[in-house]
Amino acid sequence: MALDNDSDVLVVGGGISGLSMAHLCADAGLSVRLLEAGDAPGGCLHSAQTPGGFWFEMGAHTCYNSYGGFLNLIEAVGLQGRLLPRAKVPFRLLVQDEVRTIASQLSFWELARNAPRILGLSKEGRTVREYYGSLVGAGNYERVFGPLLSAVPSQNADEFPASMLFKKRPRRKDVLRSFAVDGGLQAVALGLAADARIDVVTEAAATTIARQGAGFLATCADGRRFSARRIAVAVPPDQAAPLLAEVAPPVAAALQSLKTTGVRSYGVAVPKSATPLTPMAGLIPLKGPFFSAVTRDTVPDASLRGFAFHWPAQTREEDALAVMCRVLGVQRADFAHLARRDVILPSPVRSHAAAVAAIDAGLVGTNLAVTGNYFDGLAIEDCVQRSRSEAARWSTALTGPA
Ligand SMILES: Cc1cc2nc3c(=O)[nH]c(=O)nc-3n(C[C@H](O)[C@H](O)[C@H](O)COP(=O)(O)OP(=O)(O)OC[C@H]3O[C@@H](n4cnc5c(N)ncnc54)[C@H](O)[C@@H]3O)c2cc1C
Repeated sequence: MALDNDSDVLVVGGGISGLSMAHLCADAGLSVRLLEAGDAPGGCLHSAQTPGGFWFEMGAHTCYNSYGGFLNLIEAVGLQGRLLPRAKVPFRLLVQDEVRTIASQLSFWELARNAPRILGLSKEGRTVREYYGSLVGAGNYERVFGPLLSAVPSQNADEFPASMLFKKRPRRKDVLRSFAVDGGLQAVALGLAADARIDVVTEAAATTIARQGAGFLATCADGRRFSARRIAVAVPPDQAAPLLAEVAPPVAAALQSLKTTGVRSYGVAVPKSATPLTPMAGLIPLKGPFFSAVTRDTVPDASLRGFAFHWPAQTREEDALAVMCRVLGVQRADFAHLARRDVILPSPVRSHAAAVAAIDAGLVGTNLAVTGNYFDGLAIEDCVQRSRSEAARWSTALTGPA
């Protein structure tokens, strides 16, 4: 199989981590090629589209004016005019198949008793259960806040380091406090991928990375090969580890130690008239079997409603759709559109920071970069910030000889 032309940088993975890295490298004047295993860029930024033009989010759905790095990218691709305010609709709980308010399930006595702790409690060194359990009381946590917080990463978040969820960052006062993007967040990924300075190759799943002279050679599942002076790996850690096994064994070993979880999402669009559910931002069951259902009611449409239900990876379609019909109060015949999506998310535990430090130590002085949603946090902005710090690490070498 022919060797493709050399590029300065090869980015492996076309989610927001890889796309932001590619954009930063192109800004630095480098030639950039990006390999994406799927048929379109975006990764967890995936917006289902009906033939009639209705869209709903199958992955990430909400952005904030504290996402400064992501907002820069939105502006770079000219999409700032497509930011939409989110309608103020509430999150609800599903309690034994009944829709309830969050407040109805809380013990206010326990909340009041624990409230003073908010003053001195630090997230540092504490798990989500330890930190939030202290703030709201163990009973409130087990009954309500545990499921609410587990809805964020679509998996049990009890043992996550508390510092990895909900970061305080400077807010941009000129931007909506929280926003959606008209057409869906994937439009930002598609905009970044359309940059003429970046050669995006889809359906290109990298399987190995080897050294070639002072640079690297990546081989794809279909035999295509791409060489580059620098490589940035932007895929989930369980997939990054084998890719880096030959060229950076200590980094690969640290990546291999990170836990991950598969998330399977089923999304449906149904006519507004088909479901009796009142408008809501999302529905979170207190006792499974799914983690959350995120709606498009935050950007209401005249005729359709959209719901993405997020499930454990092994969930069977028949089981998922049966539950979804029951919860939504609809029949399969009401589905105007059905979408499915599988992604992998990190499942950080207390030892996470040590593994990240080992990855970073192994990257010092190399022309390898690793970016993703498993360094400082899972949010879109965390991905962009990780890419920025990796690009900054390279920057001296980027401006000098490779
Ligand atoms: C259901 C859900 C809801 C979320 N909601 C929000 C939200 O509202 N706000 C928020 O800020 N964040 C949210 N997040 C988190 C955020 O969307 C993700 O953490 C982030 O988008 C991950 O980006 P990434 O590029 O690191 O990884 P991914 O998006 O997983 O991208 C990795 C890419 O690499 C590709 N790939 C994998 N292996 C290879 C290979 N060998 N060769 C080439 N390509 C490969 C994959 O196909 C994929 O496209 C949500 C996530 C999920 C799943």
